Amino acid sequence: MGTIWIQGVDAITLDAEGRVLRGVDLLIEGGRITRIGQAPPGTQADEVIDGRGKVALPGLFNAHSHAAMTFERGWAEDLPFPRWLNEKIWVAESALTPDDVYWGAALAACEMIRSGTVGFNDHYFYMDRVAEVVEQSGMKAQLAWCVFGIGADKEVGPGLDGTLAFIDQWQGAAQGRLRTCLGPHSPYVCPPDFLARIAQIAAERGLPVHLHVAESQEQVENSLARHGQTPVQQLAALGIFDGHVIAAHALALSDADRAILAEKGVFVARTPNTYLKLAMPINHVTDLHAAGVRVALGSDGPASNATMDLFQIMRQQALLEKYLRLDPESLPGDTPLRMACQTGAQALGFPESGSLREGAPADLLLLDFDAPHLRPRHDLIANVVHTATGADVTHVLVDGRLLLRDRVLLTLDEERILYEAERRAFRMVNQNMSQMREYQA
Ligand SMILES: [Zn+2]
Repeated sequence: MGTIWIQGVDAITLDAEGRVLRGVDLLIEGGRITRIGQAPPGTQADEVIDGRGKVALPGLFNAHSHAAMTFERGWAEDLPFPRWLNEKIWVAESALTPDDVYWGAALAACEMIRSGTVGFNDHYFYMDRVAEVVEQSGMKAQLAWCVFGIGADKEVGPGLDGTLAFIDQWQGAAQGRLRTCLGPHSPYVCPPDFLARIAQIAAERGLPVHLHVAESQEQVENSLARHGQTPVQQLAALGIFDGHVIAAHALALSDADRAILAEKGVFVARTPNTYLKLAMPINHVTDLHAAGVRVALGSDGPASNATMDLFQIMRQQALLEKYLRLDPESLPGDTPLRMACQTGAQALGFPESGSLREGAPADLLLLDFDAPHLRPRHDLIANVVHTATGADVTHVLVDGRLLLRDRVLLTLDEERILYEAERRAFRMVNQNMSQMREYQA
């Protein structure tokens, strides 16, 4: 792996002191950052990048996604959640093929790399095809094959046994960039005995678990009626929280639930764009922080959210919390950035990433600050949190390898991916609409 020398760049390090450095050199050797400051005299590099006018930032980690749902972007608009799911999403997904998942995830990978995301935590079907995308794209990822545990005929794919085979095949693949985990859908779909089995397998094999938790008050009421426990209490009692867990959403929580999540070290993944678009009631991220719960940020599927640009998502989280609290001091400074970079990296099992420091893996991006919306440069962090977008990203590196150079994707055939993804997305939707018409007739 070659040496890369980024010259004269401003750097938001997100290190322990939260330092912002002006006009420094970043030297990258063997996939790691070996120098931040002045490059030593006589430095030679395989590639020199002029960093003047640019800002370096640790790469972003998307903590909850269904990448292949790019196929349903713009196809289920302005609907309440039950109609969105039953009339649109389940209908389209009933025709989903493994090839669709490959091209849908490849489209997502193009979008994610272009907007500075270096790793994603994906929960979907036919995940061996998403693993191929991870391998080819150069990204990092943690992949979970979604399982329901309510009968083989209801699973999309080979069920839990197939998931375990998938894990055996892909754990640690792509030079260690690919991690796998167990993906039971949620406590409102999966039966308790199935969840207990998942907890047992997770403990035996040391596997993380990624699932949806407490998305609405209605789910909490149903859980209390059925099990006498909130979803969080039930999952804790079943042993699900005894290992490394990413709980997507966790929107309807009691103080006792928050205490459990903190005590068990559960990562919560919030996807604020989804909550705004589907008008879902939520509780405060700052209450989770106060309880000691680590909160990362994600996109969810583009069918409910529409963007995978974590700059937009980070900003929505900051604004939403300030507004709901009626407190402009909520989530101040680099807090949203740390959620997107550091907590995300930890949630995905890449704890060395998420800051710019010597010795860390070179997972980073460069933003072009030669743009009207990013001047003047009083406060680089404020400009990134409140005005930058994914379109400002010019370079992306993962383990010291360039995936994006001067806004050109280096690892993926973007033109072919755009063509294949759109063609297949139209086919999937149209095929299903004609089936729907036959069914309704
Ligand atoms: Zn989700």
